[in-house]
Amino acid sequence: GKSTLFNALCSKRIAIEFSKPGTTRDPVEKTVRIDETDILLVDTGGFEFQSHDPLYIDVGLKAKFYIQNADLVLFMVEKDKIIDEDLAFLRYIKRYSKDYILVINKCEGKYPELFSKDIYQLGVSLMFPISAVHRENIGELEDFILNKANSSLKSKKIEIPDSIKLTIVGRPNTGKSTLLNSLLKYEKAIVSDIPGTTRDSIEAILELDDGTVFTIIDTAGIRKKSKVNEDLEYFSIKRSFAAIDEADIVIHLIEPEDLVTAQDKKISDRIIQNGKGYILAVNKIDKLSRNLQDSKNEKSRSGSQYSKNEFQQLENIIDQQFPHINYVKKMFISAKEDINLDSLILYAKDLYYRIKGENKTSQLNKILQSIEDKKPILIGNSFLNMLYMIEAHKIPRIFKIFINKDPAQIPSYYHQYIINELREQLNLESIPVRIKFEKRKKEK
Ligand code: GDP
Repeated sequence: GKSTLFNALCSKRIAIEFSKPGTTRDPVEKTVRIDETDILLVDTGGFEFQSHDPLYIDVGLKAKFYIQNADLVLFMVEKDKIIDEDLAFLRYIKRYSKDYILVINKCEGKYPELFSKDIYQLGVSLMFPISAVHRENIGELEDFILNKANSSLKSKKIEIPDSIKLTIVGRPNTGKSTLLNSLLKYEKAIVSDIPGTTRDSIEAILELDDGTVFTIIDTAGIRKKSKVNEDLEYFSIKRSFAAIDEADIVIHLIEPEDLVTAQDKKISDRIIQNGKGYILAVNKIDKLSRNLQDSKNEKSRSGSQYSKNEFQQLENIIDQQFPHINYVKKMFISAKEDINLDSLILYAKDLYYRIKGENKTSQLNKILQSIEDKKPILIGNSFLNMLYMIEAHKIPRIFKIFINKDPAQIPSYYHQYIINELREQLNLESIPVRIKFEKRKKEK
């Protein structure tokens, strides 16, 4: 009875009513005014939560987006008919919505003191018995919604425990919005401006089949909303910085035509300064290799039909212009054509676990010893002796190494040599690493 309730709340028929499930496939949005407050109502349309029908999958993604972003979810069930599908739905709502209530439909005329056991087993404390068709108890429901709306004008952020915070940054038009939308396989994710909300960043949740959850912090949509008289570049950099600071993993998007610019340098420095997991993604590779465009039919999603040589050339140019990020993973993607996006997201996941990873002190000291043995260095009239090492900070990753010399005497190439070795031996590709030396007096 979702559409019926929706219409009752709108007091106007705009969603098509049928008794067959799944006839209103697309979400219907309508703003209603209740006592001076504008409320955006969304009817998510009928869909089966666990369906594999592509049509339904698309509808499901849209419904999930609304579940994540709404201030309040009305979860509707039939009084005497709780099915497995409801349970799957409710699990999702409990986990991802900001707030929700249970609306029990088809309770006409009788508001039982006790519902069936099935209803209590749903474990929801706030329940509204209604009859959508007969418009019973709708006024009470409206009052509740109104109250809710007035108390959550400033929308709160949802924190999903253990979710990987990811952000996409880059110059305007590098394809950030497109990438976000492709990742969510959902066009409307950031394009729609939900009226009445004052949030200054929009987050989207992406859950992989294996249960890994990403919270994507968006900056792209914001820029489009900014006022014309603001300094666009300044504003976009400011937003990017805030997103970088909040994220665990940053995808820095560039395109083959311009590759790296002064603005990219600023973005890059911020990511490194904060020690975030860093992925440099070259977008729009579908525009490369015009000679290969004829073989479009054979287009695979792995991007393997593109010339490795071409990517290598691009990588060389980036390395020349941006030598300080030679340890950062470069990926070649097309946000629009969905090329290499699977690898991108898998790499991001792997990077996250590596960045959070722990190293045993004994292992660190073994590695330190091997670094010293491999390339001993004479300082003054004796060899540098690296006594032991600790991980002083996780993000940004800082190792502290205790030595027998004055830190100022260590040449920068040796400094770099140690960092490179640590990165390789500790599997820290794409993770900024710093080291600090401290002189330890010999015990007598
Ligand atoms: P943003 O400003 O960084 O959010 O960039 P948008 O996502 O708005 O994209 C800017 C333009 O680049 C749009 O016209 C997109 O269609 C286009 N675009 C984005 N990704 C790709 C891609 O992978 N290939 C091609 N050819 N165009 C793309």
